[in-house]
Amino acid sequence: MRLGEVGWPTTLGGYEIDILVQGYPGKSVHNGGLGWSTVTLLRGHGRVILLDTGGFGLRAALKQRLGALGLACDDVTDVLLSHSHWDHIVNYPLFPRARLHIGQQDLEWAISGDESVYAVAEFYAQQLAREPRLTYLEIGKEAFPSIRTEHAPGHTPGHLLFVLVGEDRDLIFAQDAAKSRAELVSLTTDLTIDHAQSRATLENIWTLWKARDGTIVVPGHDLPLILEGGAVKTLGERQAAIVGFLGDSLEEQTHFSLSVR
Ligand SMILES: [Zn+2]
Repeated sequence: MRLGEVGWPTTLGGYEIDILVQGYPGKSVHNGGLGWSTVTLLRGHGRVILLDTGGFGLRAALKQRLGALGLACDDVTDVLLSHSHWDHIVNYPLFPRARLHIGQQDLEWAISGDESVYAVAEFYAQQLAREPRLTYLEIGKEAFPSIRTEHAPGHTPGHLLFVLVGEDRDLIFAQDAAKSRAELVSLTTDLTIDHAQSRATLENIWTLWKARDGTIVVPGHDLPLILEGGAVKTLGERQAAIVGFLGDSLEEQTHFSLSVR
């Protein structure tokens, strides 16, 4: 999804912005977490930046969607990671030429063995910490031109969010600091190691959101959101479905839509 397709600028702060994969705000009922997270591509200032990488199941889709933009994995110059969970980081090995960026506090927590660690792919996190191409992000500083890093703890201790400061609006990549519209509106969170911290982080996101008219929030597992007259509006069409092979041949397919309209 390009922001321009839903009536908003395709470029902001000198970047072309493509949401390569929509996040989905839900869990499976009987088979654990889905982990369908938002992956965004930012192209500008001489860089090709992938903001989070999604989970294992996204590998083919990532290559296909980059290819549709005329890009190969080797063209990605930077992988920017919000936090250490498996559904955000495990595809960084697909981008061998990219510099890798994450918060030090979060990665150290992920490999600490602390009992609070959850949803981490242990070996990927350990290898990430050893990567010579890894850079730790500084809170309050620009990770890239016009992209500011902010601490957004709760979901994980060192979770970061990114504010793309545009000409007439900002774009807040909240990632799992606000996984969904439901979390933002209700100020409550599912899956956090510190509910009070998560709530304070959600309140901070609201402050940032209201600070400039037209600012868009990109949650970690939902469609982008904008405020219109104080009401939260979802941008774009949700694309989420499952095909089941429930008959006696692969031709017999059952399509389950995961969106309501
Ligand atoms: Zn997470």
